[in-house]
Amino acid sequence: MSLQTSARGVAGYAAQSEASRGRRHAEPPATTRSDFQRDRDRIIHSTAFRRLEYKTQVFLNHEGDLFRTRLTHSIEVAQIARSIARALQLDEDLVEAIALAHDLGHTPFGHAGQDALNACMRGHGGFEHNLQSLRVVDELEQRYAAFEGLNLCFETREGILKHCSVANARRLGDVGLRFLQGGQPSLEAQVANLADEIAYNNHDVDDGLRSGLISIEQLGQVELFSRHADWVRSAYPAIAERRLIHETVRRMIDELVGDLLTETRHRIAQAAPVSVDDVRKAGPLVAFSDPMRQQARDLKSFLHKQLYRHPRVVSVMDDAQHAVRTLFAAYASDETLLPPEHRERVAGLGIRAVADYIAGMTDRFALKELARVTGPNS
Ligand code: MG
Repeated sequence: MSLQTSARGVAGYAAQSEASRGRRHAEPPATTRSDFQRDRDRIIHSTAFRRLEYKTQVFLNHEGDLFRTRLTHSIEVAQIARSIARALQLDEDLVEAIALAHDLGHTPFGHAGQDALNACMRGHGGFEHNLQSLRVVDELEQRYAAFEGLNLCFETREGILKHCSVANARRLGDVGLRFLQGGQPSLEAQVANLADEIAYNNHDVDDGLRSGLISIEQLGQVELFSRHADWVRSAYPAIAERRLIHETVRRMIDELVGDLLTETRHRIAQAAPVSVDDVRKAGPLVAFSDPMRQQARDLKSFLHKQLYRHPRVVSVMDDAQHAVRTLFAAYASDETLLPPEHRERVAGLGIRAVADYIAGMTDRFALKELARVTGPNS
């Protein structure tokens, strides 16, 4: 592995904030912070970031105070991503910025909300939550006098845009190129992406158990879970259930992170990238080993079947989809239902402005709006 490090202690293959490809609008550098630190700080101060507190991860916000929200999910992703980044001598500020921003474009009501909005926007370019996260930081945040959005660095934007359709990539310029020509984003972006997966697989086990929709017995079929749960039970036979769950989940996270570090170090040693541009030209470098990828996949498919498609979750999500469709139809047919600034945006942007408005809503604001637009009798 290349141990050539910059003044700030990051390896040569890390994204270098002094050598950033820059911001869309030129700004003088900050005096006390690196450009990536500044991006992270801008994200934390954004309106979209505060909205994450009231947006659904899996369970609706009002279903219980202890379930993850998009905000606590994003903080957990940032924690895991930073740990990995430090061990690999990557830029921790960049990885944190990407992790904290990765879900800014999520609609209310989680994936159900995004599927409904995507269906509503069919024929108008669709709705992709990753692209919407980029749209939030590039265009929708209104905080600076001189430009729209947060004016983040290329490297942060590159990391936020995890997936993108070819049609949309064509419109995006530099940040869309890799979806057209192939290639990878920085290691920081790759780390944030897998930290997202580690975070949600594990916290959804915890939230799923807390909800009572899945059980420890059922999770016995999942090797990654049962291996650690069995170990904890044999080491602490009298352990209470809540502690058993926590001990098991933290051991799973630890094993996933450890495996990822070993595999990634191996791949970095083989590819020997000396710069972030070498990283972009190499294959995926941040990865689990094959056996661990399979185990993580098994856990994910368990959660899909037993939790995300649980009849109780599905029925709440059907209601959520109905709410999004109803709001969309209401605003699309009667613009006077929109606040004045959004009405103005519809005049300039068309129906995309309605999607932006709905995507920005928190769960509870969407429900309040639903009651308002459908009238007191519905
Ligand atoms: Mg996420």
